[in-house]
Amino acid sequence: MTKGKMLYEGKAKCVYDCAENPDYAIVSYKDDATAFNGLKKGTIQDKGIVNNRVTNHLMKMLEENGIPTHFVEEINDRETVVKKVSIVPLEVIVRNIASGSLSKRLGLPEGTKLSSTVLEYCYKDDALGDPMVNEYHIAAINAASKDELHCISVYAFRINDILSAYLKKSNIELIDFKLEFGKLPDGKIVLADEISPDTCRFWDSVTHEKLDKDRFRQDLGNVEGAYQEILKRLMGDK
Ligand code: 5GP
Repeated sequence: MTKGKMLYEGKAKCVYDCAENPDYAIVSYKDDATAFNGLKKGTIQDKGIVNNRVTNHLMKMLEENGIPTHFVEEINDRETVVKKVSIVPLEVIVRNIASGSLSKRLGLPEGTKLSSTVLEYCYKDDALGDPMVNEYHIAAINAASKDELHCISVYAFRINDILSAYLKKSNIELIDFKLEFGKLPDGKIVLADEISPDTCRFWDSVTHEKLDKDRFRQDLGNVEGAYQEILKRLMGDK
């Protein structure tokens, strides 16, 4: 399938029409990296390739485990055909271990095991800095209906269980991650966006070494190496 007109350019991806099918779009992953709501900018060589391949690998695995996703077909190293959806304007964050903004907000040392899984929602709005919202805000601003949000929360917890168990087999600990969901024309909710070292915190299970975008955010060095390590652990020579 081939790219048509560009529909949207984001910080890490561009989205195009799919010339052959109006119900599909083509996502193209870039090497551009941003953090802190765009204040920090850089490039991570071949990040687009890693994120495309890792996302597709994990989305296929989730589909096999009963989670509907927007994934259709990988067309090359950086580009994938997906179903066109209208994105629910929420970042859905799931946390197993305290880190990042949760550590800061609640004064929990990084690495503290949470007694139960935490689910958070942020309203997707760069100008507002993606503020955290609860289910009442979400209903009040019509970001999602009650039924849609229920469906999203059930999927988010299920994805956490499936993904944590899957990554554990590659010695990767799933600290936290961000999901986005979309709505198909018939109203069905599907997992959209990406699942990658850009959107998840991945730690080595044994050494607790960070293997994700925190290496870029915190200037820890060997950023490219960490992305390649995730690709290698999940896909080997595939
Ligand atoms: P935190 O709220 O601690 O900064 O992030 C929690 C988790 O969600 C992390 O895994 C982080 O990578 C992901 N996350 C939260 N907001 C964003 C965002 O705007 N962009 C990306 N790529 N990931 C995010």
